[in-house]
Amino acid sequence: MHPTPSTTGEHLVIVGNGMAGHRLVEALLARPQRPARITVIGAEAAPAYNRILLSPLLAGEMEREALTLRNADWYAEQGIELVLGERVETIDRAARRLTTDAGRTLAYDRLVLATGSQPARPPVPGLDLPGVHVFRDLDDADALARAAERGGSAVVIGGGLLGLEAAEGLRKQGQGKRGMAVSLLQRDDRLMNRQLDVTAARLLENELRGRGLDIHTDAELECLEADEGGHVCAARLADGTRLAADCVVVAIGIVPNTELGRRAGLEVNRGVIVDEWLTTSDPAIHALGECCEHRGATYGLVEPIWRQVEVLAERLCATGTEKVAGYVEAPTATKLKVSGVALYAFGPTEPEPDHEVLSYRDPQQGDYRRLLLRDGRLEGAVLYGDTAAGPWYFEQALAGRDLGACRPALLLGAADAQALLDDAATDSPTSPVKEAA
Ligand SMILES: Cc1cc2nc3c(=O)[nH]c(=O)nc-3n(C[C@H](O)[C@H](O)[C@H](O)COP(=O)(O)OP(=O)(O)OC[C@H]3O[C@@H](n4cnc5c(N)ncnc54)[C@H](O)[C@@H]3O)c2cc1C
Repeated sequence: MHPTPSTTGEHLVIVGNGMAGHRLVEALLARPQRPARITVIGAEAAPAYNRILLSPLLAGEMEREALTLRNADWYAEQGIELVLGERVETIDRAARRLTTDAGRTLAYDRLVLATGSQPARPPVPGLDLPGVHVFRDLDDADALARAAERGGSAVVIGGGLLGLEAAEGLRKQGQGKRGMAVSLLQRDDRLMNRQLDVTAARLLENELRGRGLDIHTDAELECLEADEGGHVCAARLADGTRLAADCVVVAIGIVPNTELGRRAGLEVNRGVIVDEWLTTSDPAIHALGECCEHRGATYGLVEPIWRQVEVLAERLCATGTEKVAGYVEAPTATKLKVSGVALYAFGPTEPEPDHEVLSYRDPQQGDYRRLLLRDGRLEGAVLYGDTAAGPWYFEQALAGRDLGACRPALLLGAADAQALLDDAATDSPTSPVKEAA
């Protein structure tokens, strides 16, 4: 059964059947006033899948089918036209018409760009050699899994979330299959330098080294070398180190896919620029997810994208009279998906002069916690080992709650700290309990 379409008769076209584009479809279908006609065009051959799970897929911890969000039949059942394996190449904004690389032309009333991003590539010689990979989609994961099955050595460039997950995936690929001897290059002096302080980064490094990962920090890649057959065979660093590599993975960051918007004459900076209703410089065109830029911010995690989806769905289904609340930037927390390693972090990695720093370390258990407070309010946390309290800390930080009352128990975990907060609320002269007494 199709949900009741709106009476507007509008044709909405969504470019990109990735995580943002698909989630938008689900959000539109959940609303009574969905646009009457929806077409989704995706460049990848497979219908939308959970990209986040590419890491456990590569590590052999998950089956490919488990990644699928919805199959093509589901789209058909919802009355949505799904075009896969075609890339939108041009947008004629005056005619409100787009063209794909297969020569298909399609008219739209409203257009959503959900084109995501692509891996950034460092400008070093040898990057185009066969055997050099990125880690972005199912095809990449397949290619990496095939390389890992052949065994040999791999070099992963980038010690952030994605690089670490790729390195661990290649090392232990397929559990029982061969896996690779993996070296990881990190330009900074520590792993995950955007999320972790030095102590947590060292704990992580020691754990991964113990598993057999060869980690090089402060590493400056100079070039990739080819063997006689023209295939990559080594990575050379600025200090002269030469690391054998049958396979190289580049994971140094992402670049928003803005080319389509740029060619169409939309306002583009690092991403396609949008306002708080995810509207581009053309009122008929919206953008969301990793391809967009809002007030100077671009995106690399799904949490803010989910909030963008809700705003845009509301906007696209609005009848014109109601006021739609705009998208507001909010902090995000980070987790690493490497099995056996638990870490949780948000906020600044380094304390500022007026931050109060609370930390706790249990070397035997491998636990570490460091909190940054300003005027009794939590602004940042790094948890390694026991991360159970992470979401509670994050909730307190988002709420801007004064944690003075539970300060003695703050490092002990959520239950103890919350109990003290509850006690303080009960004892407060303005609390209802006190008044009743
Ligand atoms: C291996 C991996 C692990 C990750 N782990 C996490 C995690 O643990 N937590 C987290 O929050 N985030 C994680 N991310 C990031 C998360 O996957 C992205 O933030 C999210 O996928 C962004 O959604 P998106 O729709 O903007 O982009 P995408 O999901 O990349 O979707 C964009 C789609 O648009 C298509 N497209 C591009 N141009 C065109 C065109 N011209 N015409 C038609 N189609 C086009 C692309 O092919 C793609 O399918 C991970 C990413 C990767 C690669």
